[in-house]
Amino acid sequence: MPKRIAIVEDEAELASLIEYNLGRHGYESLVLGGSRDTLKALEHARPDLILLDVMLPEVDGFELCRQIRQSPVLCRTPVVFLTARSDEVDRVLGLEIGGDDYMTKPFSPRELIARVKAHLRREDMEAEPAALESGPFRLDRPARRAFAAGRELSLTSTEFNLLEFFVAHPGRAYSREQLLESVWGEQRNVSPRTVDVHVRRLREQIEEQPDSPRHLTTVRGFGYRFEAPV
Ligand code: CA
Repeated sequence: MPKRIAIVEDEAELASLIEYNLGRHGYESLVLGGSRDTLKALEHARPDLILLDVMLPEVDGFELCRQIRQSPVLCRTPVVFLTARSDEVDRVLGLEIGGDDYMTKPFSPRELIARVKAHLRREDMEAEPAALESGPFRLDRPARRAFAAGRELSLTSTEFNLLEFFVAHPGRAYSREQLLESVWGEQRNVSPRTVDVHVRRLREQIEEQPDSPRHLTTVRGFGYRFEAPV
């Protein structure tokens, strides 16, 4: 089945360019202009990934992302922001409110397809074991659900991918660059700071005291290490 991508973008020309390029690579897409009804339309369509413009005529893309994260139907759907603004504040804000990634306009069709593939890649891997466990952590890969001591965690798509990587590789230190390579894959424009933002948010979910983490610790001057003692 072709993957379905929602394009929430009010610039019609850009939206149809994206739609054209996704179509060439076998993706189905749905263009939404970004209005007050967009959330409902997304819930109805249940896309596999959402490309979300920040500057929309009726609702702010950030606000829409917050609503997406609160929607039981869409909370796990990857969200990639599209924006003309490129400063770090916007980038970090976008990630903190639940975005998985960020693309600054103008971007090339090649970059677009690489990002889309990277975010959909996980679901296409069928050879992996369905369940992954380490200490109190258990991941149900096909359902993309994660549990800590039986309690279900509320993770975004990228947070899930990051936890999945750590649970599969406990006890080893990884640099930010290695994590970008392994978890973010083909995306080239992600800064190491992105890793820190997602690690911080993951700690809030998996650590009893996020400020003094037991599981996901900082390896000073290098990166991070995950340990899950039983
Ligand atoms: Ca716009």
